[in-house]
Amino acid sequence: MKALVIDDSRTMRRIVASVLTGLGYEIVEAGDGQQALDALAAAGDAHGFDLACIDWNMPVMDGLTFVTKVRENRDWRGITLMMVTTESEHGQIVRALAAGAHEYLIKPFTPDALRDKLELLGLLPIEELA
Ligand SMILES: [Mg+2]
Repeated sequence: MKALVIDDSRTMRRIVASVLTGLGYEIVEAGDGQQALDALAAAGDAHGFDLACIDWNMPVMDGLTFVTKVRENRDWRGITLMMVTTESEHGQIVRALAAGAHEYLIKPFTPDALRDKLELLGLLPIEELA
């Protein structure tokens, strides 16, 4: 399993990445939406990502724009998109889901909360489900 962790906070990337690494994920980090699009393009179909964890507020390209752009590209429709953000207003959540995000995790979060979301999405490696 391969995940793209997108956040302009290096600390936050480390937190998300450490949980995902513990679950068996291979991680690529990106500091904004444009870097993340570049990483998707560079990976190509054969080495594609299963999951992207996406901050909302970032310089250059924010998370909502990133989600919209990923959903415009048919090659990337297999990627599960999860917003991981402090934006907690109902309207913001609805906007992100309408743009094509599958899940929404509000910061701060516990490792268990992230794990639970992945389980709901069917994105836990098999050995973690035992
Ligand atoms: Mg941010």
